[in-house]
Amino acid sequence: MQRSTKIVSTLGPASNDSETLERLLSAGVNMVRLNFSHGTAQDHLDRAALVREIARKHSRAVAVLVDLQGPKIRVGKFEQGKIELANGDHFTLDANCTMGNQERVGLDYKELPNDVESGTILLLDDGRIVLEVTDVVGSEIHTVVKVGGFLSNNKGINRQGGGLTAPALTAKDMEDIKVAAQLQADYVAVSFPKSGADMYMAKTLLRAAGSKALLIAKIERTEAIGNLEEILDASDGIMVARGDLAVEVGEAAVPGLQKKMIKLARQKNKLTITATQMMESMISSPVPTRAEVSDVANAVLDGTDAVMLSAETASGKFPVETVTAMARICLEAEKSQDSKINDEVLRQGAFTRVDQSISMAALFAASHLNVKAIAAMTQSGSSALWMSRFISGVPIYALTPEESTYNRLALFRDVYPVMISHENTNREDLLVRAEVEMVRRGIVQHGDLVVFTFGDVVGLGGGTNSMKIVKVGERKPR
Ligand code: PGA
Ligand code: MN
Repeated sequence: MQRSTKIVSTLGPASNDSETLERLLSAGVNMVRLNFSHGTAQDHLDRAALVREIARKHSRAVAVLVDLQGPKIRVGKFEQGKIELANGDHFTLDANCTMGNQERVGLDYKELPNDVESGTILLLDDGRIVLEVTDVVGSEIHTVVKVGGFLSNNKGINRQGGGLTAPALTAKDMEDIKVAAQLQADYVAVSFPKSGADMYMAKTLLRAAGSKALLIAKIERTEAIGNLEEILDASDGIMVARGDLAVEVGEAAVPGLQKKMIKLARQKNKLTITATQMMESMISSPVPTRAEVSDVANAVLDGTDAVMLSAETASGKFPVETVTAMARICLEAEKSQDSKINDEVLRQGAFTRVDQSISMAALFAASHLNVKAIAAMTQSGSSALWMSRFISGVPIYALTPEESTYNRLALFRDVYPVMISHENTNREDLLVRAEVEMVRRGIVQHGDLVVFTFGDVVGLGGGTNSMKIVKVGERKPR
């Protein structure tokens, strides 16, 4: 059995060398995440080149995701590197302070004093430290410590309930967008977007830089939940960014939001990545906890396209073991998924596009006839996207001549990208070649039924207007 749900692996010091990368890809990584909160542009360019080289060597489709840092608000540095705060201590966040001590620390976002007032709760270091604002005096935010602990250099700050005004794209992000274009990122994730407008802004900058990357909105702000529909409409997919989201909305609200977000994204023909702390204990342990196994399995059952690893593969001790365990959990969860589509597809209301209608018709036929596979001949990948928005239990092979499509399809649940040249072929020859290729790969055998979708004109994006049900081996290549 093949795994339908895809795995995203964040690269970092634990996974930079080609040997580990090779093992990660073999263990099942479908997309690598370059986290632009860490490292230099050159680090990321080198990593992307290495990933592409290894993927090519193994004939694997692997997508590259550039994850922009965004306006993550952080404290500055401390003279001693860290301090310890006790409950009831008075502590000041000071936009003008350059080096922190036991009484105060600097801020990288100078506007923060304008965004808070007496009574505001600030959560530091992913909520491990809780401060209540008592007063704001010029550049200084005076607080009292509600939950103390160690606070070290550059830890993040969130405001409970949201409401920080920092724009979604910082000057650094705008520079990093150029790097994303340079390394030909397949996906770019925007951190902390608040609205559809934030996503359009990112898209405009990306296109201006020459990138065709698909856009992922990281849902990690309170405001983004209220604007989910317009953010989805402005994006190609979302990340359920549970780390920051949990701090802003309260962790208990996150599992319900995860289900709601994945469902709405699927309805709108968008992609989803479920992220953060999925296999957290495997940073230092070779086996996951029961709770982590359930978390990954439940994301699969929610219908996520992909599950993501962060520190587990970037800086953990067991990156390969983590991917292996995650792959196993996904496969098992998929087996227990109710994957029969009935008239759900037909109840979609009106289709507006010919290619979408054919895709849905093919999916409906495939899931009611005992077919082995769907074969979508695709330039842009759209037909595979539409079909994959329903969990049908029928694998979707997306055959494309476009390398960029081939790589980005790696993230779609239930979709298996295949490279096939469309050169010098008429349509019939192409279908026969596709069939021969699928037999060669062991995807189908003599006598199996396959549903093909394709366009009249080979090589035209958005041109899908036909489907054909073929019994393998009945036609001979000319
Ligand atoms: P991050 O985003 O890892 O870049 O913070 C994911 C999250 O917040 O969950
Ligand atoms: Mn985040």
